[in-house]
This record gives sequence, C-alpha cells and structure tokens, in this order.
Amino acid sequence: MERFADFYQRSIEPQTRDGFWQEQAALVDWHQKPVQICDYSNPPFARWFVGGQLNLCHNALDRHLAKRADQAALIAVSTETDTEKTYSYRQLHAEVQRMAAVLQSFGVGKGDRVQIYMPMVAEAVFAMLACMRLGAIHSVVFGGFASLSLASRIEDAQPKVIVSADAGSRGGRVVAYKPLLDEALKLSSHKPQAVLMVNRGLAPMDLRAGRDHLWTDLRSKYMEAQVPCTWVESTDQSYILYTSGTTGKPKGVQRDTGGYTVALAASMPHIFNAKAGQTFFCTSDIGWVVGHSYIIYAPLIAGMATVLYEGLPIRPDAGVWWSLVEKYRITHMFSAPTAVRVLKKHDPEYLRKYDLSSLQALWLAGEPLDEPTAQWISDALQVPIIDNYWQTETGWPIMTLCNGVEQQSSKFGSPGKAVYGYNVKLIDDKCGQELTAPNEKGVLAIEGPLPPGCMQTVWGDDARFVNTYWQSIAGKQIYSTFDWGVRDAQGYYFILGRTDDVINVAGHRLGTREIEESISAHAEIAEVAVVGVADALKGQAAMAFAVVRDASKVSDAQQRARLEAEVMKLVDSQLGAVARPSRVLFVTALPKTRSGKLLRRALQAVAENRDPGDLTTMEDPAALVQVKELLHSWVQCPKRLGR
Ligand code: AMP
Repeated sequence: MERFADFYQRSIEPQTRDGFWQEQAALVDWHQKPVQICDYSNPPFARWFVGGQLNLCHNALDRHLAKRADQAALIAVSTETDTEKTYSYRQLHAEVQRMAAVLQSFGVGKGDRVQIYMPMVAEAVFAMLACMRLGAIHSVVFGGFASLSLASRIEDAQPKVIVSADAGSRGGRVVAYKPLLDEALKLSSHKPQAVLMVNRGLAPMDLRAGRDHLWTDLRSKYMEAQVPCTWVESTDQSYILYTSGTTGKPKGVQRDTGGYTVALAASMPHIFNAKAGQTFFCTSDIGWVVGHSYIIYAPLIAGMATVLYEGLPIRPDAGVWWSLVEKYRITHMFSAPTAVRVLKKHDPEYLRKYDLSSLQALWLAGEPLDEPTAQWISDALQVPIIDNYWQTETGWPIMTLCNGVEQQSSKFGSPGKAVYGYNVKLIDDKCGQELTAPNEKGVLAIEGPLPPGCMQTVWGDDARFVNTYWQSIAGKQIYSTFDWGVRDAQGYYFILGRTDDVINVAGHRLGTREIEESISAHAEIAEVAVVGVADALKGQAAMAFAVVRDASKVSDAQQRARLEAEVMKLVDSQLGAVARPSRVLFVTALPKTRSGKLLRRALQAVAENRDPGDLTTMEDPAALVQVKELLHSWVQCPKRLGR
C-alpha cells in the first residue's frame, strides 16, 4: 500500500499531478472522458478535466440504481416536526425527477440559476439534485439569514426561480420564511419568474397569483416524470455559495461540476474511509458548504445513505443524535466543535444509553477544536475524533488525516497534515517569503493550481477572485486562506485564527463589515465597530461598539437597553439572528489610527482582556480606556468570555 507521503507528493508534483487526478477521475461516471486533466495555462484559473462531460445528479443517483435502488439514500429526520422518512435511491430518483420537471416547466435549463432558501427538509435536497440534473446552477441561502442577506444574494445570482418553504423551526419556535422572502423580493431589483413554495403547514403564506406556486400542486402533475440528465462540461458551474469576506458584499463562491464531483468522490475512500451501503450523518446545514458536500453530494456519490437532520442536538434530550446512530447504524458522523460543546454541558450518560458500535469516527470542522472538547467527546464515544480544516472556497478538507490512505495519528489542537492535492505553504506576511522551518507563524497559503473541487472564481467577478485571494501577499501570486498557521516538524498544522475581519460564530462565518453596515442603518447610530470576542460555547461571539448621534439618548441604563434591543432587532430582520451581536455597547469614540483606520484588533484585545499592543499610532487612546471601563462588568463574567 502506498504511504501517505508518496501519495501526497504524487498529487502535487507537476510531473505526476495529472496522472494522480486521472486515477481519481475513474471514481466517477463520465459521459465523455476528459481530454486534458488540468489546464493551468491562465493562472490562477484552473480548469479541471477539460473536455469531460458528466452530470452530478447522475453520479449521485442514477448510476446507483442498478445495484442499490432499494437501499436507503436519504433519511430525513426532524425533531422539530417529529417526522422521519427514509427515501430509497429509487424513491429519491423519482422525487428529483418530479422536482426537475416542475423547474423545467418554469423554463429552467442549463446555466440558469435557482435560489434555494429552505430549512432542512427533503424537498431542499430534491431541489438541489434537480438543478444538477438539469445543468442549472443552484444558490442555496442559509435559512437563518433574513431579508437583506437574501436580497443581496438574489440581486447577485439573478435566479430564474426561487424554491422556498413556509417556515423553518428551531427549538420548537417556528420561523416563517415567506414574509422574509417577500421582503427580500421587494428589496431586490431582480425578480424571479416563479417562486415554488413547499408548504409544511407551519406558518400561513400569502401566495402571489401568477408568481407563487405550491410544490404539492405541481408535484401531483409530474408523478411519472422522466427527466433525463443534461450532460454538462466538467468546467460548467454546478453551484454558487455565498460567503462573507472583509467587505459588506458577500462573495459568490463558484464551483465547477467535474472537479467537484471527482474531489468529493475521492474524499470518501481516502479521507473518510467510507463505502457504499454505509450511513453518513453530517449535522451541518444545507446552507453551508459542509452541508452541500457532506450532507448531500459526497455520501450519495459514494452510494451511502445520508441523514438530513432538522433540530437541535439536545431536543428532546441530549441523546437524540446517538439514538439516531443506534437506529440507523450510522457509520460516519461529521459535526462542529460548537455542537460538541453544547452536548458537553449535558450528562455523558446520554451517550452511553445507546449502542454506538456502528460508528467508526467523528469528524469535526468549521472552527478550532479545543482540547477539552476533543477529549470529552473522545472519552464519551471511544472512536477517533478527527479535526478537519477547510473553507467554503475549497469545498472539501485542506487539512486532516487521510486515514483511508494510511493510518495517521492525531495531535490535539491540530487538524493534521495537508491533504493530497493541496500544495500548502506558510508565508511570511511581511516579505512574502515561504517559511520552511518548523513552528514559524505565517499566513496559510496554497500554491496554484487549487485542486479539483475548489472555487473556480467569484461569481461574475473574476477580478475580485484574483485581487482578493491571489494578490493579498506582496510579490507572490498564491492563494491566501486568510488564516494564520504554524507547522511542526512532523508536518502537522495548527490554525491560529483569521488574518482578516471575518469572525466565526458557532462555526458560522460572518463578516464584521456586513454586521456593521446593518447596524449603521439605525437612524440613531453614527458609527459602529463589530469584533469577534472569545466565547466559551460558540468559539467567538460578535460584539458591537457603537457611537450614537445624540449622546443624551443613551444617558441611562434603560435608554441603553432600549437602543441595544432595537439594534439587535434590526440585525435580526436584515441579516438574521445568526449575525446578531451578543452585546451592543455605547461609546463616545471608537479607537482609530491617526489616518482614521478603525483599530478592530485593539478593540478585540481589550474585549478579551488582552494587551492591545502598540498604541502609538492611535489617535485618541482614551477611546480604548472607555471601552475597557465599559467592559469591566462583562469581563467579570467568565462564562461569556471563555475563561
Ligand atoms: P467557512 O468558509 O465558513 O467554512 O469558514 C472557513 C474558516 O473557518 C477557515 O478559514 C477557518 O478560519 C475556520 N476553520 C474551519 N475549519 C477549521 C478547523 N478545523 N480549525 C480551525 N479553524 C477552522
């Protein structure tokens, strides 16, 4: 068996890279085989499997029908509505064809965009796969986002059709989607031709005649629909997924079809040691990249059953996930450290109540995995706990343990070594030089070409792709992850936080600029800074420091509480509760450099009770003193600040 080091080397050396990826491409069904494996003649744009034609839905469904039509494909569980339904490959294939026929009836075809704004229901999966079937491009918007976030994504992706639902539900609380969608459609200058609504019977809906349609009505028309897969070029887009950056405008991460299908197909044996017939349970949301890749596409490409779960990890009790492991003989589980920290507050007996013997390992991603959390879940589950580090941009892990290639030992605090395909470098941010000695801190970067499956470009904005990702390090065209990292002598990496203003709340990536723009829309706010501060449960929490236009309006505690609540409500309604700051504190000035640049890092340091560092460039050091005083009572509260 090939050693991991050799496997890795083959995947990144220019002489062997194409051969390596040609082998991986054999894991996928092609309508036309590729004629060129990687075209990197126009860096940093990589084109994978050029000339190849395929269909992602065919690879996820149709090709399995001969062998596993009656095997479970999708297990949709909702502890919010107390429903559980298993779809076999045959049944899922039929539902996807019905959905594809409905979308086709609205004129959706190859290259058209379909926006999906839905909770974790099976129909969302039908819609995503139906888009792939038709060669259409989906853009899934996380159900926790509100009207403004949704509107900016509609404006950018210009969907022909939007698929949505009456409501989601969280912890038993119904969140109506239709009013948020209607508001977003009012805000957006782009109007879709049709809106397809799934009615779960959770919230009343106003349907606009001629535009809004009900899935149940149309589905019944297309019960016997047979919609063949549209073959697309490997380099044709499969989807757009928006992610936050340093500016207020989210970036549409654009992915291809062939590279993504191959990358996911290869990850199942090499990273997850997964086989057809096994069961994968990824607890993420379809609105995030982990959900796209490991709730839907990769498990289905591999011929596995996948669990789609709507609900909290602790409702009806903290044993609910483990009861599912027992019931469905789940072999692979994928979650986020935040979820484990939530479970950790409950009795570990909940884990011991169930037969977990089917479970092979638990993968965790999305945010740093701290040692106490890793240790707790490792003791409780008695299976390997495997950290993996990646980004919306990459679509699959950059670092982890490739135990399917060679068993590797893990190190606490490290997501492991660079994964095959990723030529990871550590770069000195000041001079752009590569850091080769162990334990030196640098910016984590990836030498082009990015491997298959990674973003092709920013949707509709090649210049933004190049400028943002490939030109942030002086004198070097290299992809920046915007994360700091170090590598030890054995090649294990440690992630040390973001180099930009992106924060990570409960594994959700949020741009502080977006939150600031939303808060600034409040008539009483003159200026605001949002920073991420350490939080014991969520990893980070957003905290806002605002300057008001009229200080007399926040002169007493009651007034401050009123304005704080109003600001939070505004963020809820514009961006969604996911982006709501945990506190809004009112100050008379924000710390800035003499040139007027906001000193977010100093603010963050003070909020975390750390040394704010060199303040000689600061315009008015009194601003930080005020922040310090304000935070005094908060800093006393160890739970909030993770101490
Ligand atoms: P997203 O694009 O939302 O998946 O967020 C990606 C960012 O989350 C990365 O750039 C990191 O800052 C952080 N991240 C993801 N996985 C890990 C991990 N395993 N350890 C540390 N940070 C992580």
